[in-house]
Amino acid sequence: TTILEQGNISIHTENIFPIIKKALYSEHEIFLRELVSNAVDAIKKLSMVARSGEYSGDISAPEIEIKFDKDKKTLSISDTGIGMTAEEIKKYINQVAFSSAEEFITKYKDSAAEDPIIGHFGLGFYSSFMVASTVEIDTFSYKEGSEAVHWSCDGSTQFELSASDRTTVGTTITLTLMEGEEEYLEPARIRQLIKTYCDFMPVPIKIDGEVVNKHEAPWKQSPSSLTDEDYLEFYRYLYPFQEDPLLWIHLNTDYPFVVNGILYFPKLKPDIDITKSSIKLYCNQVFVTDNCEEVVPRFLLPLRGVIDSTDIPLNVSRSFLQGDRTVRRIADYIAKKVGDSLKALYRDDPAKYIASWQDLGNFVKFGSLNDDKFKEQVKDILIFRTTAKLGDTEAAKVEVQTDEGDAWSEVSDNKPATDAKGNFYTTLQEYLERNKDKHENRVFYATDEVSQATYIELFRSQGLELLFMDSFIDTHFIPTLEREYSDVKFVRVDADLDDTLLDKEKQSEIVDPATNKTRDDQIKEMFEQAINRPRVNVKPQALKGEGAPPAMVLLPEEARRMQETMAM
Ligand code: ADP
Ligand code: MG
Repeated sequence: TTILEQGNISIHTENIFPIIKKALYSEHEIFLRELVSNAVDAIKKLSMVARSGEYSGDISAPEIEIKFDKDKKTLSISDTGIGMTAEEIKKYINQVAFSSAEEFITKYKDSAAEDPIIGHFGLGFYSSFMVASTVEIDTFSYKEGSEAVHWSCDGSTQFELSASDRTTVGTTITLTLMEGEEEYLEPARIRQLIKTYCDFMPVPIKIDGEVVNKHEAPWKQSPSSLTDEDYLEFYRYLYPFQEDPLLWIHLNTDYPFVVNGILYFPKLKPDIDITKSSIKLYCNQVFVTDNCEEVVPRFLLPLRGVIDSTDIPLNVSRSFLQGDRTVRRIADYIAKKVGDSLKALYRDDPAKYIASWQDLGNFVKFGSLNDDKFKEQVKDILIFRTTAKLGDTEAAKVEVQTDEGDAWSEVSDNKPATDAKGNFYTTLQEYLERNKDKHENRVFYATDEVSQATYIELFRSQGLELLFMDSFIDTHFIPTLEREYSDVKFVRVDADLDDTLLDKEKQSEIVDPATNKTRDDQIKEMFEQAINRPRVNVKPQALKGEGAPPAMVLLPEEARRMQETMAM
């Protein structure tokens, strides 16, 4: 094809400006996050410059200060950062969507990698016009020979530049608030916004002379420098008045993604709502959202804590996150890290793993139900409380392996491990291995220790091992196990009884020579009449063993499930 003409697309500032100011961000309050982020960046930049030896002024007490003037209707944000020359204002402020970040990062590569700069789109500053009729900048650059400058703009595409009487290096942004935006003149409102968005930004932020943010982000610290108490304290800070978490995972990686964070496992309640997340998402310590649904795999939503990633493209629109490939890969990565950490815990501290299992187990099962990759990952660390006792069984060898291939392939001696109450726990593989001769690929399980006590005792007296599948999630989980172990039969203790428990002789004993009725026939008839429900399939069973009841009425496993489903 022949090209007829080539050229540049132009933008009419008058038309696009209102869109940038109003429509880019969904909430007005975001302006504060943007201005404080710029102040933090400016402070980081000055310290990078100082480290490189290009600035020798005092940088020992960096701070951001927010002031109000109710009469003048102004709000100002001052920083002790790098400042701007008149040239820089023309370049970075007057040119919309132009950021100094890239130039800076290229020049100070090493320090910038250590402590990343927040901004890079060159749009944040203009969010101030969502709430302000006039925005002014007073700034004084660290550069030798520079003069302080004053910039002001009334929201039109015109600006004014003049000399400023500022004498200290840094920048003050002053907003004259519009009608209807007076809430931002209230120190309490600003404090609340700082708490939400800027709590963990690495510079003290002062209101009325008082530091209002926490300004230290535990997730950016190295895990070895934090004690259990530090982690718990942080949890209580994030989620006050909540039960302490079971355990936590400190994410800390630079490759393939920069992801930092601390994820806590709270106790799972039967009424968990998996559509809501209470994980907080940060980008470079700036709070972004606590609707993490796009970034965290669904089944991890019950977790709590913080995820901080520089790689999550925090553009202006959140719906953008949903379709983003990097975000999906980060989500997968987080899921894998969670699985790995659980495996590591099982390997390194089985006592703790078992002690938390009652709650942790619900989470692992919930994850397995919702995510096949996770199910695969945790299948070797899925454990069940068992009726087996130490010494009941010979030690058989079972290999437990992680995905990292030969990273560890520890051999467990197949003794079920115990919790604080002395209960033993075992994996399904171990159970099957241990009982392969007697059970012939059957797993016997109980769902209620109290109401099924007679049956449990019966199995025990016959030397048969039972697993307890009695958590609220097990009802949903057993069918998954059945699919997974297709050659294994899962039998609930009060359902179809195992042949080894039955006394064949007693069963076929003729008790009424006139009709040739066996004892079983008689019992069956009796029950059917008594309950008057001929379709109930009564299966009288005579049991072996001393003290065994003379008969038991059992529903076949399928009928039992059907009945329970109907009752639900
Ligand atoms: P971004 O932060 O993404 O770069 P902004 O629109 O928020 O975009 O800011 C544009 C530029 O203005 C910044 O890159 C920076 O060079 C400059 N700037 C803004 N605020 C300050 C400040 N408080 N101190 C120094 N420079 C600033
Ligand atoms: Mg910015």
